[in-house]
Amino acid sequence: MPTSQSSEPGDTRITISNICSVQGFKMMRFILDRMLGRMRSWLRLFGYDTIYAEEGEEDGTLFLRAKHEGRILLSRDKALVERCRRRGVRAVQIRSLDIVGQLTEVMIHLGVDPSPKMIRCTLCNDQIKRLNKDELEALREEGYDYIPVSPPDDREFWQCTGCGQVFWEGGHWENIRKTEELLRRRYMTAERLRHKLEHWIEHSEGHLESYRKAMEEAGDLGLRDVQDDLKQAVQAMEDATGWLMSALKRLKMEDSGEG
Ligand SMILES: [Zn+2]
Ligand SMILES: [Zn+2]
Repeated sequence: MPTSQSSEPGDTRITISNICSVQGFKMMRFILDRMLGRMRSWLRLFGYDTIYAEEGEEDGTLFLRAKHEGRILLSRDKALVERCRRRGVRAVQIRSLDIVGQLTEVMIHLGVDPSPKMIRCTLCNDQIKRLNKDELEALREEGYDYIPVSPPDDREFWQCTGCGQVFWEGGHWENIRKTEELLRRRYMTAERLRHKLEHWIEHSEGHLESYRKAMEEAGDLGLRDVQDDLKQAVQAMEDATGWLMSALKRLKMEDSGEG
């Protein structure tokens, strides 16, 4: 996360059009269950409006909040995800336990873009705005001495319009960039895997055709044992194709009620 210190709440708000001006940014809103706490600040860092289940909040409340606020529910709880989908709320079951795995899942299944956007507060989810030199100077004069005096570079600063938190590209920034790169590499690997699967599925249909023909030929020759073996091969090929198609579906964007 960007470095942050507490301060007084600010009052200037940036507009939605500002948010949407981040190029190619597909706006999605999320609600997370309590088991996915680490995803919260990352999704906010990536610019997504993300809220988190309150302590002791019931599954039913999560569902209602997702429905009323148009949020996608992310949960480790398969049963909850299925209930939400049955009742028309978009929900994705997260299976990974580690944060990079979890982010990979939302990137592949929902198209989450893993680059820091600096439009949303990682702490409170409100919008943040870039501070200009005068605003920065004003904050310093007000005694916000945690803001580095005369930064060595033209580093940028942001302030949350909700909680007033000030952010800048601090020591954690390198880790953020590394995670972004890792996620992008993972996305490319998944993309290649998708292409391989598509290729194999297409290919296996051709093979299946040949196996069936061979099976018929063996039958015509009266070679029942050969025919039986080839029949097994046809069945196995059909099964394999089915599994490949299932794997491909899971690698694509989620949109159905299937988990
Ligand atoms: Zn905030
Ligand atoms: Zn082949």
